Amino acid sequence: MKPFIYDYTLERLREWMNEAGQPAFRADQLFDWLYVKRVCDFEEMTNLPKMLRARLAEAFGFVTLSEITKFESKDGTVKFLFGLHDDHAIETVVMRHNYGNSICVTTQVGCRIGCTFCASTLGGLKRNLTAGEIVAQVVTAQQLLDETDERISSIVIMGSGEPFENYEATMDFLRIMIHDKGLHIGQRHITVSTSGIVPSIYKFADEGTQINLAISIHAPNDALRSKLMPVNRRFPFEEVMESLRYYMAKTGRRITFEYALIGGVNDRPEHAEELAQVLQGMLCHVNLIPVNHVPERKYVRTPREDIFEFQRILERAGVNATIRREQGHDIEAACGQLRAKHMEFQAR
Ligand code: SF4
Repeated sequence: MKPFIYDYTLERLREWMNEAGQPAFRADQLFDWLYVKRVCDFEEMTNLPKMLRARLAEAFGFVTLSEITKFESKDGTVKFLFGLHDDHAIETVVMRHNYGNSICVTTQVGCRIGCTFCASTLGGLKRNLTAGEIVAQVVTAQQLLDETDERISSIVIMGSGEPFENYEATMDFLRIMIHDKGLHIGQRHITVSTSGIVPSIYKFADEGTQINLAISIHAPNDALRSKLMPVNRRFPFEEVMESLRYYMAKTGRRITFEYALIGGVNDRPEHAEELAQVLQGMLCHVNLIPVNHVPERKYVRTPREDIFEFQRILERAGVNATIRREQGHDIEAACGQLRAKHMEFQAR
């Protein structure tokens, strides 16, 4: 199979042009067609010489995401289930906020991390996405928004999969997204969320970007975190915290701690107090997420009043905390739910 043109950063396209005996500016022209004009056919790239267009078509393919289903929520959230060339399915969500549109992208087909509250991991990991397959989710969504003159202004890498287990593809995706000759998404408007892959946190800290980091913490201590997230046995709580302290010292950037509240499991006042203690003095923010109901698991939702109480305890201790506003509740927008249903249907 040919490599996807979206797999290539501008720097790699320049190298390719150089090897093809073409001046570097041809790569810039190509990049402009791909990400500013958002054209998906080399033949339409009319300022490139005809011979070069033919060579590009010979060397590269375009990622084709077929729309299996699309659900639109009353609040404007749109959830896509896209089909890939090898018949796998991935989810992508576009959310409308009063400050702009954001997209939540997927980096792997399935996931092997095994968080007990997540539907994405139920079938395990099928494969990594290439950088181009992640890019295609944004380009496809942007092409749809182009019809109404809207723009994607922020990206969260929080869809299915663990981006730091597909590190190089995720980084190439980010390099393509932030480039000022392409879609030019502001680095501070992009968030990568990890379950705590320690070596990659160090690597990411050393990248020197302004991209935000979020960590799925979900418990205030090692024992409880291991129960909820098996990955904690590979990278224990304290090692994760140590890598985050390194990240903060290196980048000076605030970290977001994602905390999914699960009724009776990790949502008691003592959990909030312990969490507040662990995060004391850290440049951080806690995002409380009332857990979504996953039929395969027996978790129940935390009552509203308890959610507010959890937040109050954190804030009283000087830890900044917000409750995530739920979007697309009416369309099963939670991570992995749509794909899980699709797989179940195919298995029948
Ligand atoms: S929450 Fe994220 S890391 Fe955990 S299993 Fe689901 S997709 Fe994987």
